[in-house]
Amino acid sequence: MFQLSEPRQQLQAKARALAEAVFRGRAAEIDRTEDYPWDNVAALKDAGFLGMTIPTALGGQGRDYLDAALVVEEIAKCCGVTARITVEANMGGVAAVMAYGSDAQRKLAAALVLDGDKPAICITEPGAGSAATEMTTTARRVRGGYVLNGTKHWITGGGVSKLHLIFARIIDGDADLGIGSFLAVRGEAEGLIVGKREPAMGLRGVPETEIILEDLFITDAMALIPGGDPARGFGKLMAAYNSQRVGAAAVALGIGEGAYETALAFVQEREQFSRPIAEFQGLQWMLADMSIGLAAAQALVWKAAASAPAGGFPDMCMAAQAKIMAAETAVWVTNDALQLHGAAGFSRNLPLERMVRDARMFTIGGGTAQVLRTQVAGAILGRKLPQTRDGYLPEAPAAGSPRQVA
Ligand code: FAD
Repeated sequence: MFQLSEPRQQLQAKARALAEAVFRGRAAEIDRTEDYPWDNVAALKDAGFLGMTIPTALGGQGRDYLDAALVVEEIAKCCGVTARITVEANMGGVAAVMAYGSDAQRKLAAALVLDGDKPAICITEPGAGSAATEMTTTARRVRGGYVLNGTKHWITGGGVSKLHLIFARIIDGDADLGIGSFLAVRGEAEGLIVGKREPAMGLRGVPETEIILEDLFITDAMALIPGGDPARGFGKLMAAYNSQRVGAAAVALGIGEGAYETALAFVQEREQFSRPIAEFQGLQWMLADMSIGLAAAQALVWKAAASAPAGGFPDMCMAAQAKIMAAETAVWVTNDALQLHGAAGFSRNLPLERMVRDARMFTIGGGTAQVLRTQVAGAILGRKLPQTRDGYLPEAPAAGSPRQVA
């Protein structure tokens, strides 16, 4: 069923070759210095891996999310940071602008991304994490636009991203109209301030920072409010975010696969008790479980990516299922891969300890495993559940039938 077409296999092979030749050798240094890998961004740009999902009319390749996920998965096997950049240059914020933006907004986003930008999505606040709709950042209606005030945190790419997609509560006079989004370009927007950087456990080459909004004026032309109606528009913006979740799932999957491949080679070389340690049944069963978990995660990630109709987004329930499965599998698979290396796995000379740290993020960022389970349950039960404030139902009922992967 999941037989990839010849063109998809070629794309996958191209991504694998670039990741092996260029990104694998740089990953440890990126982790050590915590510097944003601009060289890797240039390589992604040269390979055509930025803006793959942007329509051809705007200079992109009009690829679907399965193509993008395949590229992300291969890159993540060698460098989680570079895979995350690839996600954000093809999914999430880019997807939202392409779907709901004006012609000018789409041109702006396409030009920036194709030139190497990775848009930042600014939703989370110190007091509003899982309960995203409890955000207190305001966009006060004024003549010709909006004035934004508030503080976002854990914003991926803060200080390196140019384009920002900022979510805020729209206030018109005394009326709270609901949550809309706003585009701002760092460097051109006075009042968009990059705050302190989080000392993150993993994925250290991409900064996670505060973004402080101090009387940031956004013109009407830079407001991104689907249908012009914030009350309904937020759900639509979050539907675009399902593409980001599939991308995050593909990163987690690739990190898990990279760790598994490393362990598979090691256990066949390393000898103890006068034989390769791969001959011990206890370790064989660990490897078998790792391969089963990864195969299941890959099936869900590919299925979720392929669930997006042309011009639409991945199914909410499938995206959540894929992210939970890929993230949780990556956490234990990377740990088991480290274990199979013995002390060598604990050394920073090998990539295992980095992969353990990098994988840890994906059960948290972009919707925790707990909150996503609530979304899955909501889709199964066909209703919004009270325990999440950012719970939302998909525009259409969750598709039940698996789709063929072309
Ligand atoms: P909380 O919401 O405080 O949750 C704490 C715990 O309670 C979690 O275990 C959670 O699962 C659980 N919990 C909360 N509510 C429920 C419930 N109803 N039922 C069951 N359990 C519940 N945000 C952005 O806007 N932009 C970004 O670019 C971005 N990048 C990130 C990158 C990283 C590396 C990380 C770690 C986070 C990033 N985030 C970003 C923020 C991320 O989306 C939030 O961390 C996430 O939504 C959880 O919010 P929180 O951390 O405040 O946890």
